[in-house]
Amino acid sequence: MSALPKNAPRLPDSNGVNGRKPDTLNWVTSLPFLLTHLLCFAAFFIGFKWQYVLLALGSYYFQMVGVTMGYHRYFSHRAFKTNRVFQFILAFWAQLTVQKGVLWWAANHRHHHRYSDHDEDIHSPTKKGFWYSHMGWVVSERYEATDLNRIKDFARFPELVWLNTYHLVPMLLAVPVLLAIGGWPVLLWGGVIPLTLVWHGTFTINSLSHIFGSRRYLTTDTSRNNWLLALITCGEGWHNNHHFYQNTANQGWFWWEVDFTYYVLKALAAVGVVKDLRLPAEQTRQSFQAYTAEQRAQLNAPADFKAAPARMPSAQPQPAET
Ligand SMILES: [Zn+2]
Ligand SMILES: [Zn+2]
Repeated sequence: MSALPKNAPRLPDSNGVNGRKPDTLNWVTSLPFLLTHLLCFAAFFIGFKWQYVLLALGSYYFQMVGVTMGYHRYFSHRAFKTNRVFQFILAFWAQLTVQKGVLWWAANHRHHHRYSDHDEDIHSPTKKGFWYSHMGWVVSERYEATDLNRIKDFARFPELVWLNTYHLVPMLLAVPVLLAIGGWPVLLWGGVIPLTLVWHGTFTINSLSHIFGSRRYLTTDTSRNNWLLALITCGEGWHNNHHFYQNTANQGWFWWEVDFTYYVLKALAAVGVVKDLRLPAEQTRQSFQAYTAEQRAQLNAPADFKAAPARMPSAQPQPAET
């Protein structure tokens, strides 16, 4: 299927982001990414302790919350509000996970929502294959630049543009801190190993959560809900909910849909760090109840984008109010 939904107009791309550079692996810029994977094997040369595993687990979830709360729910979707200082902290926190700048990440993610599983989608597993959607596009030369056209609302903050340009700064500052805390073992088990796992945990949302899981809502894509991916990604595995209505602070919409990031957001809201968490209306949440038998059959049928209702909330959220 290549037909776009009616309300997904083609936007001009800036900086040659989409299509003007070759879609090939850039060995130079991808080398640190590949070497980090190899570095994980250094664990075999350091004496094993269970404390290291706990450290890795704690670091993993700390980093993953940075991805989900920062890169995704705030900068991509403006699912809640905060002040300018915490906005910067969120960007810094997210970029500790070395997934490039927040503006780059959010711009590409908004593009994904606009063109999900259609030809223009950067990382659709149904269009581009599993490995390309999982990590091929990340190391491709084609998508290295930041398309500021898609992220104008945050590109007006100079401190975010700076951090987006020098996106490795948070990680470069974290390395000496980890070394000072506990030397090479802490750098490895508190940094390198969980970082690599966070990369692949994040990538599963682009690859696996468009392939495995159940569909509650009819959407114009192949997004699915998957409890295991939700546990791995602090709530992002409720991806069908998310594609149905993308700008909510919670992605688990029912009490059994565990969404760790939302619990953190509620705690931060309780102490006044964030506010105005956007939640789905009851009518939105329950809308699947009114599906006809034919629509229910469509949920589990092979993707039929034309049959899906035209319900795609804008991928360009409201202007910033911070
Ligand atoms: Zn998706
Ligand atoms: Zn999203």
